[in-house]
Amino acid sequence: MTDSPPAATSAPRSLAIVGGGPAGLMAAQEALSTGVAVTLYESRPSVGRKFLIAGRGGLNLTHSEPFDRFRHRYREAESRLRPYLEAFDASAVVRWCEGLGIDTFVGTSGRVFPTDFKAAPLLRAWLHELRAAGLQIRVRHRFTGFAGDRGPRFDTPEGPVTVTPGAVILACGGASWPHLGSDGAWVGPLGEAGIPVSPLRPANCGFEVAWSEHFAQRHAGHPVKSVTASASEQDGRVTQATGELMITATGIEGGLVYQLSAPLREAIERDGQAELTLDLTPGRSVEHLTGALNRPRGKKSLARHLEAAAGLGGVKAGLLREVLTANQMEDASLLASTIKALPLSLHATRPIDEAISTAGGVAFSGLDEHLMLKDLPGVFCAGEMLDWEAPTGGYLLTACFATGVAAARGAVEWLSRQPKDAAV
Ligand SMILES: Cc1cc2nc3c(=O)[nH]c(=O)nc-3n(C[C@H](O)[C@H](O)[C@H](O)COP(=O)(O)OP(=O)(O)OC[C@H]3O[C@@H](n4cnc5c(N)ncnc54)[C@H](O)[C@@H]3O)c2cc1C
Repeated sequence: MTDSPPAATSAPRSLAIVGGGPAGLMAAQEALSTGVAVTLYESRPSVGRKFLIAGRGGLNLTHSEPFDRFRHRYREAESRLRPYLEAFDASAVVRWCEGLGIDTFVGTSGRVFPTDFKAAPLLRAWLHELRAAGLQIRVRHRFTGFAGDRGPRFDTPEGPVTVTPGAVILACGGASWPHLGSDGAWVGPLGEAGIPVSPLRPANCGFEVAWSEHFAQRHAGHPVKSVTASASEQDGRVTQATGELMITATGIEGGLVYQLSAPLREAIERDGQAELTLDLTPGRSVEHLTGALNRPRGKKSLARHLEAAAGLGGVKAGLLREVLTANQMEDASLLASTIKALPLSLHATRPIDEAISTAGGVAFSGLDEHLMLKDLPGVFCAGEMLDWEAPTGGYLLTACFATGVAAARGAVEWLSRQPKDAAV
């Protein structure tokens, strides 16, 4: 099939947004508020699918910690994201949500949620407001690249379509949970257009551990609660977090693991493996544990002694047996030091399909300060398709919203400087 002629008029103040996730929808809201005509193109039959899935976990919208801590969650991308996050920070996220009639609250961890923990009512209210403001939504329009010096090209049920808006914002997401629509297929066309893209990799992901068959069968699906985990960064600093992880048949996953997934993944990329160190009893010192484990155990089995002296049974005792031999388990001081620093060797990340989010993406070196592609003037990028990552905790959605706002402001400003009938 050949391309159809341009389907949209090249109105001077028209903006095409590709991708109906939180970044694209926020960009639409910002642009509509300035009077620009916005059409949003989405490959799936409906918008906001990943946003709705995020609601299953309670929809952690943002985080209430001080901005100076908040911004550092974005690691190497902090300095590039900072102006966008300053312009649309956690309090702006809360105001936006409450402006849609959905109250928020701060949980004990400082995370911010809608009071009903649901994404569907929020998305419904948002779409209602966007449509009322004039947003046109074209679903089943899959962006496949740029048609020469014309605008973006889409595959649609009616065949290929090329549109010629005044400006374009790409907000196609990363490559995790691809059945929800963000499959990273945009990397191909952008790469062909010469746009620098860092390889897409799993972030907030699980890792593979070579468990013994016995351990995997017995403990897969069991949580390991209240442990402190540490991982070394490339510069030698140690990143630490406390919480809960989950044993899986192939390794580990869960909130605690996700918090450390960036240094762990980087170590695997660099060295072929990463070490995660677990403190199984965060409140107890190694001396205290050694003393307790050295107490005479009488006729008690080692398992019962470990339970009585250190409070460790079940999956935690199983973890110790994964790294110590039966003889080593009898050595109280070795046992105590292993309880405080149990080394887990991780040899691979789980596939990106299973990850919560994506690292890598459109490199900031290819973008100007308004998130416009230097090599494709009039085309802006926002959201998870940019080259940044952050742990879970509301940081992902906040940066998607903030870059959506920034790209829209850039696009609106760019449109205002174009001659009347210019198109991308
Ligand atoms: C299970 C789960 C739970 C999560 N929970 C949270 C949470 O509580 N808090 C938090 O901050 N973050 C959470 N996230 C992450 C958050 O949902 C994402 O970071 C966010 O949705 C990314 O927004 P985005 O707009 O950049 O991309 P997406 O939400 O992925 O949206 C991109 C859109 O673009 C469309 N698209 C892709 N390619 C094309 C194409 N070629 N043509 C046309 N359309 C295309 C997709 O169909 C999609 O609708 C969670 C993620 C998952 C998977």
